[in-house]
Amino acid sequence: MTPALVDLIRAALWLVSATAFGWMLDGTYGALVAVLIAASYLVARHLWQLTQLIRWARQPLGTETPSAGGLWGEAYAALHRRARSAAEQREELGKLLDRFRQAAEVMPEGVVILDGHRNIEWMNGRAEVILNLQPSRDLGSPITYLLREPEFLAYIGHSNPTGSLVLRSARSAGQTLQIQSVPFAAGRSLLLVRDITQLQKLETMRRDFVANVSHELRTPLTVVAGFLETTAEGLTDLPQEEVRQYLDMAGDQAKRMQRLIEDLLTLSTLETDAPPSEESIAMPDLLAEIRDEAAALSAGRHEVVLENAGPPRLSGNYKELRSAFGNLASNAVRYTPAGGRIVIGWRNAPDGGAAFSVTDTGLGIDARDLPRLTERFYRVDRGRSRETGGTGLGLAIVKHVLERHQAKLDIASTPGEGSTFTATFPERRVTPDQAGS
Ligand code: ADP
Repeated sequence: MTPALVDLIRAALWLVSATAFGWMLDGTYGALVAVLIAASYLVARHLWQLTQLIRWARQPLGTETPSAGGLWGEAYAALHRRARSAAEQREELGKLLDRFRQAAEVMPEGVVILDGHRNIEWMNGRAEVILNLQPSRDLGSPITYLLREPEFLAYIGHSNPTGSLVLRSARSAGQTLQIQSVPFAAGRSLLLVRDITQLQKLETMRRDFVANVSHELRTPLTVVAGFLETTAEGLTDLPQEEVRQYLDMAGDQAKRMQRLIEDLLTLSTLETDAPPSEESIAMPDLLAEIRDEAAALSAGRHEVVLENAGPPRLSGNYKELRSAFGNLASNAVRYTPAGGRIVIGWRNAPDGGAAFSVTDTGLGIDARDLPRLTERFYRVDRGRSRETGGTGLGLAIVKHVLERHQAKLDIASTPGEGSTFTATFPERRVTPDQAGS
């Protein structure tokens, strides 16, 4: 039996009993009065339940349903089930939204949601950083108030922007952004923002590098080609002596290209290869080699001195360290006029490490050039570098080798007085003297 039928039978029985009771008390009049009272009671009961229902419906979702029997009990149970499933759905949706928010938060790109009027509806943390936005201040503001660059206004003003925009940001000096607008539902759009400053810098460096290498190779190649042409044309007429002179000059240029290629290959190995194999290097031998090499390059034009007061052994890659130390010593010779003094030093550092240094009484370097000195192809004195066979890569190689040995390069210099290049190695590289030297 359905609750509706039970309620109906109950109400009918209630009316019949009231009528019979009224009849017994006062005949027809009594029966009428009793029916009226019973019917009013029934209506009042339903009205009270209805009021309860309205009051419950106004409560927040999840409020417990009032208890009632019969048809009202059924109605409350059905409403309770509905409310519970709505609450569960809401919770699920809330969780889903949270997951989307979390995913958007960890995206490496800045994400900004714009409404149909290009006002900011939402942004992730990355967008706040890249675009220098503050949610408390900027949510609800038109994006065009915040990014006012004409290129951006033209891009975003387009009804359906295609592709992406590379923008030099005016809000943060030197910053380059890549912005893409992706339209979605109801005129809204998603603005994806990437900070490509580093990428652009790398691209510029790559372009500069290719241009520099091409330039460095073109000059000697042109000279060699010219000599060969002249020699070939006058092979039978030119005096032997002149031909020899041309061939010698072409040979010098070929050696220059060879040095450049060797330095480029060394740099590339230092940048791409795994850390070098290590050995315990006997420093007195290595220092003597560096001194002899510098003295040979100087050919008696300088006083070359070795001051060795440092630990006898250093842990590292012999070939790489020899090349780095050799570069510093040969620079000292090349940038010090004849009559100057060059001191190659090796001593204990105060923190337990050890320091290799080369001090010269040469040209010196202006303070503003110091930070760029280890950049590839950066030269202060281009003419002198070329004349003395420089490739412009020596200090870049030194920097890489020292980085691979966790050593630090310090440069102290006074223009016109001289320079000191110091490479300081950490304590753990200073090994005990196993050979007893
Ligand atoms: P390069 O092959 O031109 O010598 P490096 O990378 O070895 O290239 O050095 C970069 C530049 O630093 C040089 O061109 C020179 O201008 C400057 N430099 C390096 N060492 C010294 C030094 N001891 N004294 C003065 N200038 C130096």
